[in-house]
Amino acid sequence: MPHHILIIEDEPAIADTLTYALSTEGFDATWCATGEAALAALGQSAFDLALLDVGLPDINGFDLFREIARSQSLPVIFLTARSGEIDRVVGLELGADDYISKPFSPREVCARVRTVLRRAARSGQPAAATGPVLSSAPAGAFAIDDERKSISFHGQALELSRTEYRLLKTLVERPGRVFSREELMSHAWEHPEVSLDRTVDAHIKLLRAKLRAVDPGCDPIQTHRGLGYSLKDRQ
Ligand code: CA
Repeated sequence: MPHHILIIEDEPAIADTLTYALSTEGFDATWCATGEAALAALGQSAFDLALLDVGLPDINGFDLFREIARSQSLPVIFLTARSGEIDRVVGLELGADDYISKPFSPREVCARVRTVLRRAARSGQPAAATGPVLSSAPAGAFAIDDERKSISFHGQALELSRTEYRLLKTLVERPGRVFSREELMSHAWEHPEVSLDRTVDAHIKLLRAKLRAVDPGCDPIQTHRGLGYSLKDRQ
């Protein structure tokens, strides 16, 4: 049975591109242009994952996400148009499984869809229900204390600057997800526009040194040449 993907997006051109890309890769896709239509579709058929545009004409994507989560645990990938929206997706910690910023490549979307579906299958339950709970190694070696703004690694609290804290938190919360330097900057820096890509590299280097101080020989942060960084899914 092909996976059934619900596309909730009001721009027909984007919805067409997504529908085409997903069906080319063997998915079934259903398109809804409004939140109301999406809720009706969700009441009628079973879906494996939703691609949810944050800016819908009748309801805010975040509110729709909460509405959906009330009745079912459906993996959701947000489609965002502005970096301010990305900040909200991350900041709200809604439990969305991923987000993709526009403009995006259809291939990237399909790859992300497959990753989220795999993760959902592996955890034995839809990924949306797992929230930010950290379980898989080496992510499981990390514990985030949001109130104290501290992260411990193998039970040992790391001494992190504010930027390092936000950088590591971003990686730890989405193991396996590759973040570009630009994305990491928009998550971890208060004024990303004045930072340089090299700054990310410098902070990653410092973070690696701090992690190695706890566990010599470990290297949980992976470099993706030309792309960015991710926290390894598994060692
Ligand atoms: Ca829109």
